[in-house]
Amino acid sequence: MTFQTGVPCLADVLAAAQRILGIAARTPLVPSPFLTDRLGADFLLKLEIAQPIGAFKLRGAANAIAAVPDGAPGVVCCSTGNHGRAVAHAAARRGLRAVVCLSALVPEAKLAGIRTLGAELRIVGRSQDDAQAEATRLMAEAGLAEIPPFDDPAVIAGQGTLGLEILAERPDIGTLLVPLSGGGLAAGVALAAKAIKPDVRVIGVSMDRGAAMAASIAAGRPVAVQEVASLADSLGGGIGLDNRLSFALCRDLLDAVVLVTEEEIYRALQALFHEDRLVAEGAAVVGIAALLSGKLAGQLDAGAPVATILTGRNLDMGVLARIVTGADVELDGKIVKGAPWRRT
Ligand SMILES: *Cc1c(COP(=O)(O)O)cnc(C)c1O
Repeated sequence: MTFQTGVPCLADVLAAAQRILGIAARTPLVPSPFLTDRLGADFLLKLEIAQPIGAFKLRGAANAIAAVPDGAPGVVCCSTGNHGRAVAHAAARRGLRAVVCLSALVPEAKLAGIRTLGAELRIVGRSQDDAQAEATRLMAEAGLAEIPPFDDPAVIAGQGTLGLEILAERPDIGTLLVPLSGGGLAAGVALAAKAIKPDVRVIGVSMDRGAAMAASIAAGRPVAVQEVASLADSLGGGIGLDNRLSFALCRDLLDAVVLVTEEEIYRALQALFHEDRLVAEGAAVVGIAALLSGKLAGQLDAGAPVATILTGRNLDMGVLARIVTGADVELDGKIVKGAPWRRT
């Protein structure tokens, strides 16, 4: 696939929607009665937790892998979790060899999830940079095609199919709340949604510590931030100091970026479980956390429906059990103070 300027547009997202059919699911968009009551307008949840790998990243990975030429020796990526799972799944569906490079810090449960899908694991070093160096080496040495996690036109176009699906089903939506990390998801959703409905608002939401895209937009250029443990672990990591696409798209297309605390993410996981009876990972509920914290005041069109994307469900079940019962959670030595769920 070639893009004239490198920047994907609505036509690329429409083409991606055709390419990923049968690999990534068209997921339900369901109302949340509890959050609708809180908002005073329809609040909708796009259930990417129902994707075959439990996260939306299959959309971008499937679209990028569809463009790998027949007869190619395979694909390679570096990842700490959901992207590796997505690449493993989409490569297996095409009968391609997949190599996922990870650092020694990635927990065993995540490795098992990727291995089960038939991918080869390369465990190198103790950082994402070490894993990236191994992926780059395998590209040069074995001729494997690299599938980047977010800063890639085919990946962004694939994630953008979410914007198409949401607005096709509910053209009346006023605001989309999108979990934000490397920005492949937010860039794709914003470009697709605004191409269809120019006045829709798209708000990126991240955790308040270690949010690289938020810090980069504030600084006006890609900057590195210190990575810290978070309930929203899938939102950690940098955006790349040599970022080509996702930084500029997020800077230009997002109407606002809102940051939420670990305690707000904790409460949002409880609300989703006890009120909507759904399970998602911390990264997926930051939009709910933003609403419940009151931080969206003044950011929303009164009376217009709001939707958020429940981006994934791949979390540690021990942590989930603690949160639903109101126990404290320890994150790398720091305590997130718990309390049983109670409507306030
Ligand atoms: C990757 C990921 C995100 C963020 O996507 P970006 O394209 O990196 O911004 C959000 N939620 C989950 C569950 C993810 O795996």
